[in-house]
Amino acid sequence: MTELYHPSIYDPRHPVQSYWEDTAGPPVEGWAPLARDEMCDVAIIGGGYTGLSAALHLARDYGIEARVLEAGPPGWGASGRNGGFCGPSGAKMSVADMTARFGEAETRRYFQTGIAAVELVQALGRDEGIDFDAQGDGEYAVAHSARAAEELDAYAATMTRVFGLPCQALSREAFAERGYRGPECFGAMHQPVGFGLHPLKFVRGLARVALRRGAKIHGETPVIKWEKGNSSHRIITRGGTLTAKRVIIATNGFTQDGLHKGMDGVLLPAISNIITTRPLTAEERSAHAWTTANPIWDSRHLFYYYRMLRDGRFLIGARGNTTARPEDEIAMRARLTADLYRIWPGWRDVPISHYWRGFVCLSHALAPNVGVLDDDPSVAYAVGYHGSGVAWANWSGRAAARLLADNARPAEAVPAVVGQPLRRFPLAALRVWYLRAAYAAYAVKDRLGL
Ligand SMILES: Cc1cc2nc3c(=O)[nH]c(=O)nc-3n(C[C@H](O)[C@H](O)[C@H](O)COP(=O)(O)OP(=O)(O)OC[C@H]3O[C@@H](n4cnc5c(N)ncnc54)[C@H](O)[C@@H]3O)c2cc1C
Repeated sequence: MTELYHPSIYDPRHPVQSYWEDTAGPPVEGWAPLARDEMCDVAIIGGGYTGLSAALHLARDYGIEARVLEAGPPGWGASGRNGGFCGPSGAKMSVADMTARFGEAETRRYFQTGIAAVELVQALGRDEGIDFDAQGDGEYAVAHSARAAEELDAYAATMTRVFGLPCQALSREAFAERGYRGPECFGAMHQPVGFGLHPLKFVRGLARVALRRGAKIHGETPVIKWEKGNSSHRIITRGGTLTAKRVIIATNGFTQDGLHKGMDGVLLPAISNIITTRPLTAEERSAHAWTTANPIWDSRHLFYYYRMLRDGRFLIGARGNTTARPEDEIAMRARLTADLYRIWPGWRDVPISHYWRGFVCLSHALAPNVGVLDDDPSVAYAVGYHGSGVAWANWSGRAAARLLADNARPAEAVPAVVGQPLRRFPLAALRVWYLRAAYAAYAVKDRLGL
């Protein structure tokens, strides 16, 4: 299989030295690598939110025997190491482009689905007893320039009026009362849907519930080959072959070309990086009048996302590093640290406790992509959450499960924005170069305040 980045980022034996790993509590029990040839109804490749949500819903809602094949332990991919923002957005497409292409009704349906995705996570927590340390009452977007503040005002008005997501624009002063104060904050927008969570506790909780509901999980079981027979799929791993009637592809940013020809060249993984500080003292937090527990992102093209964690640590993340080489990891950590000290000068020199990284996943559709393969309706996929999979991957895993279980037609079962056909990137071998070019252009725009 072909890897677009340095092999270390695909290697499940490579430790993820995240703050979440240090605080998630005991690992999941009750799973084992596939050790012999087995059969099942639905094989799910990938054991993050998408795959585990699909397995849980197949087992619980349909009584269908599902088995998850995951290269690392359950949740090893992005699901166990993200920023924990559980929000309704999931597209890279602007609202104007979405409305122009899909019309107002489908655009509204898309945003309402994002809200439903957040509610699904809340329901899983409540109904299945998953404790994921929820924090906050919505999300904030912060304007990093005066011009961006005007744009956020207009965005908030459109979301409220047209798409039923009642957002509130806040002046710099109003935001200082309920958020924080800083030299690069020119105002903000409050989006009332969403919250912060502990992503690894959540994905481990999901794995435990899927097991309890009857699904099987084979961790440490990388799929190395996939053969299609007349009426079944042979999913080959080092320890054994799983023969299944149907398959769900849930590998998102960690998908490698060569897994299945239907997925080759259709996804563009991008590296997202996170650092956390040691717990800030009350005095340090008051240096920026920090009072909010809500997750926040800023209005840059190459945006930062950040939140104050329950124990007073500050978490900040950003895209960057387009190689995954170890030396570029060191540079990325240093860059993110310097950015933190610049944006919040009151915290200059606060020590950094953790740095980690992983893949978010873009698709040609510029929106989450859920469907069945054109030439094989026994294969469903759910991918491409554009860095917003905490809510969307859970919803999309369930949607993929329902597509297979109900024999539903994607056009009716998912919003048109999400049901776009999979498309290969032109000159797919050069995908990462598109990303490099886009980052260079975004960096210039951000510097010029455009
Ligand atoms: C640093 C970072 C910060 C992020 N922050 C946020 C955030 O705050 N909010 C948000 O909503 N989203 C965020 N995201 C994105 C979010 O984590 C993802 O969208 C989401 O986890 C996707 O879930 P998934 O199950 O589809 O994919 P993953 O969790 O990535 O799971 C895919 C799995 O497939 C497995 N796999 C791949 N190939 C094979 C194979 N051949 N055989 C077996 N297994 C295989 C991998 O090992 C991996 O575990 C962030 C991501 C990163 C990396």
